[in-house]
Amino acid sequence: MNNLSDRLNRLTESATLAMTRKSRELQAEGVDVINLSIGEPDFDTPEVVKAAAIQAIKDNITHYPPVPGFPELRSAISAKLKRDNNLDYSPEQIVVSTGAKQSIANVVLSLVNPGDEVLLPSPYWVSYIELVKMAEGIPVMLSASIENNFKVTAKELDGAITDKTKLIIYSSPCNPSGSAYSEAELKSIADVVASHEELYVIADEIYEHIIFEGTHTSLASFDNVKDRVITVNGVSKGFAMTGWRIGYIGAPDWIVKACIKIQGQFTSGASTISQKAAEAAMKMDKESTVAMRDIFLSRRNLLLDLMKDIPGITTNVPEGAFYVFPNISSYLGKKNGEETIESASDLCMYLLNEAHVALVTGEAFGEPDYMRISYACSEDTIRESIKRITSALAKLN
Ligand code: PMP
Ligand code: GLU
Repeated sequence: MNNLSDRLNRLTESATLAMTRKSRELQAEGVDVINLSIGEPDFDTPEVVKAAAIQAIKDNITHYPPVPGFPELRSAISAKLKRDNNLDYSPEQIVVSTGAKQSIANVVLSLVNPGDEVLLPSPYWVSYIELVKMAEGIPVMLSASIENNFKVTAKELDGAITDKTKLIIYSSPCNPSGSAYSEAELKSIADVVASHEELYVIADEIYEHIIFEGTHTSLASFDNVKDRVITVNGVSKGFAMTGWRIGYIGAPDWIVKACIKIQGQFTSGASTISQKAAEAAMKMDKESTVAMRDIFLSRRNLLLDLMKDIPGITTNVPEGAFYVFPNISSYLGKKNGEETIESASDLCMYLLNEAHVALVTGEAFGEPDYMRISYACSEDTIRESIKRITSALAKLN
């Protein structure tokens, strides 16, 4: 029996979390699964951050927080955004939430009316489309080709904007393609956005620290769009703090107020202990994030090098994040015994069952000819997984 709301029936389970759940189930049965499906740093949270959380517990900072976050944390985030990103958000323009995922949900629910179009350059991160559907918005996909390094041009964006477009959501560096928009590319995108009144943009900058080529640019640093950009960030990726569940936005006052209103009804705010930990992260010097970035870069290079020997796979050179998003279309239509691999999802299920490597289908990111490999794991694990993937793919004909 299914007596669920239409809203819930429309919703799809997060593909990243679903693959991770499947690989945990197989691991519990004793199968040696390599999980390259979840995007989370395999490093430990820095010691100073853990110490701040322990101190918060000792100091009994265990009561309800102010809904938008502790003032000290909002000030530390405001200072960080100025220092690292050249952004002018006052502490009152910051809202701290239970992960960047909730930050994005707050903004989408605040801005999107039923029937509003939300433009998603694809490949896009899995949760954007589902959050838009939950708000009864209409997701409009704009595919960025691998030939253009998975980036849409300002002209393509302009061509896809209609009088119904309310919001654009993108990540840079991008999950899943690893592509990062340059300052010049973002400048021309800012000009397009500026020319359309009442168009807003969520700039998801959660991978800002994991960038290998060039430097990260924040869309809201361009004056002509500052009032229409919501900057989303968090501590999950840059500080190896996925389980602490802290994300935040910097935004115009009226959007901030709306997000506080939603959050006041949904969660009452983020965990006090995690907030104290995040405050320490905001004040840390860059050493451990730079060290992490360098390790991700060597892993990226190793993975790309090993992937050259897998026949029929093409990829771009990701400029950031910790994912590779290869085109696997040459394997579609091939057979595994009696069964035909019809889609990237079939291929991922085949690789999970045959190679015991968990990956995520490109369909979840709006690109059905691709799959995502996360390299947030050791170099030995990368070598072993590519060995397994290569021999499993060789069995298809
Ligand atoms: N945006 C992107 C692009 C992501 O990859 C993720 C997943 N970590 C998030 C937002 C959400 O991050 P979190 O909720 O852990 O802060
Ligand atoms: N963002 C990560 C990923 O894409 C974590 C999983 C999730 O939050 O969906 O794998």
